[in-house]
Amino acid sequence: MNHALNRVQEWFPSADGDPSRRQQLQELLEELLAGADRLKNPDRVNLAGTKRRSEHFYRELLQESAIPQSGAPMKDVVPKLLELLHDHPYHTKYFLTNILPMASIPGIVGMLAAFLVNGNNLWDVYGPAGAEAEVRVIGMMSKLVGYDPMLSGGYTTWGGQGAVFTGLRLAIAKLAPDAQQTGVPRNLYAFCSEAAHYSLYKSVQATGLGTDRLIRVRTRRDSSMDLDDLRDKLLQVIRQGGIPAYIVATTGTTDALGIDDVQGVSAVSREIAQAHGLPDPHIHADSALGGFFAFFNGYDFDRNPLGLPITALKPLHAIHRRLRHLNLADSLCFDFQKLGQTPYVTSLFMVRNASDLKLLDLEPEETPYVGHRGYGQYHTGYTLECSRMASAVSIYSALTAFGIEGYQRLLAQFIEVSHRIREEVAREIPELTLVNADNPGIVSLFRLYAPVGPRFADEVAGRCSTGQIAETNRLNEELFELLGRDRDKMFFGDTKKHLLVPTTDGPDQPLSASKIFVISPYTEVEHVPEIVRYLKSRVNEALSALKIPTAP
Ligand SMILES: *Cc1c(COP(=O)(O)O)cnc(C)c1O
Repeated sequence: MNHALNRVQEWFPSADGDPSRRQQLQELLEELLAGADRLKNPDRVNLAGTKRRSEHFYRELLQESAIPQSGAPMKDVVPKLLELLHDHPYHTKYFLTNILPMASIPGIVGMLAAFLVNGNNLWDVYGPAGAEAEVRVIGMMSKLVGYDPMLSGGYTTWGGQGAVFTGLRLAIAKLAPDAQQTGVPRNLYAFCSEAAHYSLYKSVQATGLGTDRLIRVRTRRDSSMDLDDLRDKLLQVIRQGGIPAYIVATTGTTDALGIDDVQGVSAVSREIAQAHGLPDPHIHADSALGGFFAFFNGYDFDRNPLGLPITALKPLHAIHRRLRHLNLADSLCFDFQKLGQTPYVTSLFMVRNASDLKLLDLEPEETPYVGHRGYGQYHTGYTLECSRMASAVSIYSALTAFGIEGYQRLLAQFIEVSHRIREEVAREIPELTLVNADNPGIVSLFRLYAPVGPRFADEVAGRCSTGQIAETNRLNEELFELLGRDRDKMFFGDTKKHLLVPTTDGPDQPLSASKIFVISPYTEVEHVPEIVRYLKSRVNEALSALKIPTAP
């Protein structure tokens, strides 16, 4: 111990476990943590500190930034890191904007554990910790959703988007095994709902299938895929000589938490494929967000052993009923950086049959079961990435620390608070209408209406003109502006793409709505009146800005 370090070694953790070197790292971490704590203010959203982000902000950064000739001691680097955090949005009780969660302590500590050995998840010999954590996590999540863990497989990847993309690669490989040599056939088609995430749009672009071969299925009022329309569109494609290859069933849309019926999608597509002598299309459940409600799969809703509030129980039960057939999907995804409470990027892509991954592997003859190989043969040639971070270590840490009950309690809290917000808004702000009432859950979309004029019911029934809808959208966008102006006080979300509604005089039109996403563990029921009062004041301001009289 304590042999003299040469100049380049001092940047690195010790090779020998020297406690004084460990202390150096601890001190830096302490400075970082204490520095971040000093910036916190639970009554605002943003951390303290000023950032003047002018129009030329990034240009100025480019101009002034250069690598120092001789480096700075770490104790001088930490303040610079803390400066980056100044005025950063932080997950206080008023952080209500979107699916942008806080990283939990188990998630952060798990990441640190992975960084300490910095293994490469490409190969288990290079990254045994990551490989072990990954296989463990696949086993855990397979049992949770009802996949057979001895047949299923998967890996951590680049986001929910990466999962949708890999699902498409699998779909193509299943139908056209030589596509990897000869290119993608021109007659394959992919399907998703109008409310699906744009991941599939990007994926058909990137695989070369082309967006012309992406078919959008209509949604119902609850933002779920309309199965009759799916049937019609599958038949239409087949009649024109196309082959349905890939269907993305969104199980939890990013805006409204609409949940596609995976069992229905699977039944319709199988029936039509069989009737036409075609192979079943590959079904990917885009459960990046909503999949986490599978934590309630084993929950006894009658006995309610955790004593969850009844107002949370009913919505949870409804969500759980719609999600219970997740295991019928050929592949699915859990974005742990969403409701899994781990840092970016910790997305888990899963396949029901690990053998599917062979279709994408570099040397398919090598091995019977990808992911079920012996030690030393876990080489992820089927991933689009080459090197991969061991993000499964963070997932493993979170799953172990939270346990099923921990996730149940956390999700129930989000649901309970969300339910209270809906109640309070209904009571206090008559100008706002909840436009995703059919989706119980953690997201609420509120659309602002002038006291006189068409309402939501008129819009969904197709009784409004494009002009009328545009006018109400403008009113809502005025509210977005006001909420955006003060977002360091309370941070709300918004969308310009909720539901497509028919019009009397033109094409279908999307609706704009403000969004409240309960995502911070610090937002509690007792904060709801304050949040709603604040929202009401901005609603009144938006109405008066447009010279619309407010309700008495
Ligand atoms: C967030 C989300 C995605 C994209 O996931 P990333 O991790 O951001 O790539 C895709 N689909 C759904 C339903 C999502 O909620």
